Amino acid sequence: MNLDKHTRSLVDHLAAASDLDSAAAVLNWDQQTYMPPGGITARAEALATLSRLSHEITASNDTARLLDAAGDPEPGSDAEAVVRVARRDHERATKLPSRLVVETSRATTLAEPAWRQARADNDFDSLVPHLQKILDLQRETAEHLGYRDHAYDALLDRYEPGATKSRLEPMFEDLKRGTANVVRAVSTADDRTAPLHGAFDEGKQETFGKSIASAFGYDWGRGRQDRAPHPFCINFGGPGDVRVTTRFDPNRLSPALFATLHEAGHALYEQGVDPAYSRSPLAGGVSLGIHESQSRLWENVVGRSRPFWDHFYPRLRDAFPEAFGGTSPEDFYRAINAASPSEIRVEADELTYNLHVVLRFELEVALVEGSLAVTDLPDAWNAKMEEHLGITPKDNARGVLQDDHWAIGFFGYFPTYTLGNVLSVQLFEAALKGHPEIPTEMERGEFATLLTWLRENVHRHGKKHDPEALVENATGRPPDTAPYLRYLEEKFGELYDL
Ligand code: ZN
Repeated sequence: MNLDKHTRSLVDHLAAASDLDSAAAVLNWDQQTYMPPGGITARAEALATLSRLSHEITASNDTARLLDAAGDPEPGSDAEAVVRVARRDHERATKLPSRLVVETSRATTLAEPAWRQARADNDFDSLVPHLQKILDLQRETAEHLGYRDHAYDALLDRYEPGATKSRLEPMFEDLKRGTANVVRAVSTADDRTAPLHGAFDEGKQETFGKSIASAFGYDWGRGRQDRAPHPFCINFGGPGDVRVTTRFDPNRLSPALFATLHEAGHALYEQGVDPAYSRSPLAGGVSLGIHESQSRLWENVVGRSRPFWDHFYPRLRDAFPEAFGGTSPEDFYRAINAASPSEIRVEADELTYNLHVVLRFELEVALVEGSLAVTDLPDAWNAKMEEHLGITPKDNARGVLQDDHWAIGFFGYFPTYTLGNVLSVQLFEAALKGHPEIPTEMERGEFATLLTWLRENVHRHGKKHDPEALVENATGRPPDTAPYLRYLEEKFGELYDL
């Protein structure tokens, strides 16, 4: 980074906060992968201390003084971006009392295993005290952060700078209206997923998934894959250590396979950020919506396409000859793209996925504004499932307890999944326009042109540009739902003869 003396001092000062966040991320990764259950109490305290120290540095008078000294660097420069992002982080941190940061960290760390247990036992009541505590802390956080129209906006802005409830609502309406006919049509179609059920050796699943991540360009010298109850991607301060996790189902191929493609997409983004931004305010992906555009691009737009499987299906068949010996490539393609309303978000097809997000968005808005009580959540969940997807979950474990987001304090996070879906297609189309040879390369199992385009237009910039500016620079247009709706209509129209 080419920085003047003052901005360099600011970055050097804030690097300590970045180091504390990286250390917290390692502890967090360990908690979700290898930590024995007995470690939870001490881990909650260690994480609370690290978040307090990081918060204190970001909010400190020293940071304020260095920000003042840095002034207003030249627009478009790295220095300008550093100051803009650091100032935003500083202002946000000064609004939050240390006590609230510590309490939130401790409460969410303790709630994570409680959520796991509640889901395993199908026991929503056991989670209620945790959820209530975390919701209270989230509402208090929103009041401290401040907002113009709705408390929800303050929470959402943490994940998607600039996004608001009132700007999301028309997007969700567009998507609901734009897909209603196709969703109705697929709801009555026969099940096509039979080829994906059978006996799938976990070791072979792992090897096959890793071979695809390698082909995408995931660098194992700067990453690794472990097992965790919830697949995720995490990095420690820069592109040099970007890890993923997955989980295996010995009787079903798709959960681990598509989770691996998805997390590899997140990881490619983090591995592609300019290394010069490491330990600075510009390190890492710019927003969760942009992050999810990368994971969904590789998982769906690439990983559920015909050109992709032209190359990989023969290899999958070699890995699992008994399961796929009698399945044609076309039947396999139809199986991985089978659409129908279902209970579980992370296993939902591309068409109905956003309905799962709308439901969560509506419920978390109601929780934050106080029009829905935590104890009424299961009933409200089931009513919304009926309203949006026309089904009722078998039990709370497969309903309101399926995701950990609310238990770990991620209010305002869900909408970024849908933003990511929308942007995945807009970005892919822009790459295709510049490089019409991308699908032909995919048929050969090659992704270098696509990855290079994403590196150049999205990854390398880290947090330098705000999300909307990044999309506009990369595609020539602001974020737009039209390409995504067109993509869904064409893909599922063809699959279901509509
Ligand atoms: Zn994701």
